[in-house]
Amino acid sequence: MNIRSIVVAAQPHVCRLRASSFRSDLHALKVPKRSVLGSAARFSTNRIVKLEKIAKTSDEWKKELTREEYYVLREKGTERPRTGKYDSFYPDTGYFVCAGCGNPLYSAESKFMSGCGWPAFDKCFKGGVDIEVDNTLGMRRVEILCGKCDGHLGHVFEGERMTPTNERHCVNSISVKFVDEPIPEGLEEAKVV
Ligand SMILES: [Zn+2]
Repeated sequence: MNIRSIVVAAQPHVCRLRASSFRSDLHALKVPKRSVLGSAARFSTNRIVKLEKIAKTSDEWKKELTREEYYVLREKGTERPRTGKYDSFYPDTGYFVCAGCGNPLYSAESKFMSGCGWPAFDKCFKGGVDIEVDNTLGMRRVEILCGKCDGHLGHVFEGERMTPTNERHCVNSISVKFVDEPIPEGLEEAKVV
């Protein structure tokens, strides 16, 4: 192999390294991401602990997730109402984690009966989720994403007066997994908006 062929062979590797270090720089600076829709903005309003983000390619996620999980978590899909396995599931103890990465999101105590057809929570673990607010088309839509892997969870609805926190996290069952164990120490709960 001559020098020219060695340089050519090495270039894709160098490019990949540069791309990944640029991505981690963006996270370190907490530069807000812009939605493809143009006017949405990402916030981490109740973050007390900065989570290290998980960045995987679409192919990597496809290998780890079921087709349904990939559709909801990575393509922002929505499961049909009243079909999710946690819709009518109200445990007394335990907590829910992200189905994509295991990040703790919601306590069993925060789950309430909203009648909307999807699991509903009135608060989350601090720092567990990020929100992305989209004010396009004259509507306010607040998307909730896993604070660690950016997986799509659902949307937050405010001002419905269903519980004292006055916010409803409408979450796809597919996006979460229930853990029947005590809540890990150090996690606190709060509203996200
Ligand atoms: Zn996650």
